Amino acid sequence: MFSPHTVVAPRPDLPQRVPDDRSSGKVVVVGGGLAGVTAATVLAERGLTVELLEAAPRLGGRLGTWPRTLPDGTEVTVEHGYHGFFRQYYTLRDVLRRIDPDLAFLRDVGGYPVESREWESEDFSDLPTTPLANLAALVWKSPSFRLRDLRKVDGREALAMLRYDPVRTFAEHDHRTTAELLDSFGFSERGRAMLFEVFAHSFFNTEQRYSAAEFLAMCHFYFTGNPEGLGMDVPTDQYAATIWDPFTRLLEKHGATVTTGARATMVVDGPGGWSVGVDGGPTRTARHLVVATDVPATRALFERSPAFATTGPRLAGQVAELPGGEPYVVARLWCRGDVDAAHAPFTGVTRERILDSVTLFHRIEAESAAWASRTGGSVIELHSYACPHDASRDDLVAEMRHELAGLWPEFAALEVLDVDAHLYDNAPGFDPGTHARRPGVVTDARGLRLAGDWVATEIPSALMERAAVTGVLAANDVLREEGVAPEPVRSIAPRGVLARARG
Ligand SMILES: Cc1cc2nc3c(=O)[nH]c(=O)nc-3n(C[C@H](O)[C@H](O)[C@H](O)COP(=O)(O)OP(=O)(O)OC[C@H]3O[C@@H](n4cnc5c(N)ncnc54)[C@H](O)[C@@H]3O)c2cc1C
Repeated sequence: MFSPHTVVAPRPDLPQRVPDDRSSGKVVVVGGGLAGVTAATVLAERGLTVELLEAAPRLGGRLGTWPRTLPDGTEVTVEHGYHGFFRQYYTLRDVLRRIDPDLAFLRDVGGYPVESREWESEDFSDLPTTPLANLAALVWKSPSFRLRDLRKVDGREALAMLRYDPVRTFAEHDHRTTAELLDSFGFSERGRAMLFEVFAHSFFNTEQRYSAAEFLAMCHFYFTGNPEGLGMDVPTDQYAATIWDPFTRLLEKHGATVTTGARATMVVDGPGGWSVGVDGGPTRTARHLVVATDVPATRALFERSPAFATTGPRLAGQVAELPGGEPYVVARLWCRGDVDAAHAPFTGVTRERILDSVTLFHRIEAESAAWASRTGGSVIELHSYACPHDASRDDLVAEMRHELAGLWPEFAALEVLDVDAHLYDNAPGFDPGTHARRPGVVTDARGLRLAGDWVATEIPSALMERAAVTGVLAANDVLREEGVAPEPVRSIAPRGVLARARG
């Protein structure tokens, strides 16, 4: 039950590569985030002619990087934000093993405490790894789940977490919000704040807008169905050096073309396959198209594409209706001095208006550590995963700094030497009632596949793992059409330990 589940089995009976005679169709992949890079890598390895188009100057998308010169003249690389690489991300890890077979660039971040001003901090990452034992230990050990509180819990409702089924759970729970679901559980205020609110925010959504079924799917994937525990790994150095430069080299080694600074402007299906218009460059043509852009970019791409509503009427309607997630802010601060050595490298924060997490980059990442040890400083990153829609970036950053000073008083005394802050609006939303219309990898637009963390699949996955899984599934659909064996896929158990048999 808890060993990895084979979703797509190897097919040694089929050819593993397309023939070398170049008779196979060319592939254009639009979007060079994790999903697009995954699809491009799998396809290039199998001998297809692949071009990867990325609008930004560098690969990476929401895991991307950019250079910055600090006031002291130091050249640094800034990431889009801290990322936790969970151990049940089997597909992502298989993809990353192509650039580092031992995943030596990842290391355990250690604990994962959740802090608030109201209650003592708790760390849920040191629970047993086996599902059910982890739940029992949580209830037994955690001060947020006292016996007197548990008497008020509606066990029948709460068991929905263990009954996860990718069809039934959505049929029964997608119509309501996570807030309504949590109300029905009856957990204490503290249990709800410490465990569930932080968790809902991590998906760039608020309880009030997030589908209860999506939330249950996330409980299954990260906790109740996850045999690897809540521990997470982090790259030991900045992501350009550890992830994106190695992927560019790997893709080029397999003969793929990686074109950055190339924004796709429209896609048109014609007799010779897909034509992809590119800002400031020639139009590309391809038999196979993988669209691996984020939600706003995909919507804009299809809206600008003439006759798209006729080429893929269902897909055009689905993408036009897709909800967006909440705005989010990431601010990295270079400071003189450091916060208390006892703080964990990554801390989740609950019950602040804006601040959701704090990362001490100088304690996990080589480049930041080198700057901090040379200057006696610290590199502190603040995230708000679901912030108010009407606030400015600078006000949000000021508020996060103020809230951190309330939590960690010594932070107020640090001199902030430089700030790199961004407010974004490109996370996917998972509003109640939208699941049935969420597009999957294979679409009604012939030869066009979707990949990304917002694309539907029944394979348990989210965030980076969803991007990698849908990237592989998109590549597999191209391989199927070319008569080539699929890339194997494994996942955690597809259904919860108490899921009823489907009738
Ligand atoms: C602050 C932050 C923290 C996060 N933390 C975690 C975490 O701890 N764990 C986790 O699993 N996930 C985390 N995530 C989520 C994770 O980053 C995403 O799920 C993942 O990176 C999505 O990858 P993607 O390829 O689907 O999309 P993206 O990374 O958005 O890639 C889409 C790409 O398409 C490009 N593009 C857009 N339009 C065009 C166009 N017209 N032509 C060409 N290219 C185009 C974009 O520039 C971009 O590179 C976090 C995200 C953020 C923002």
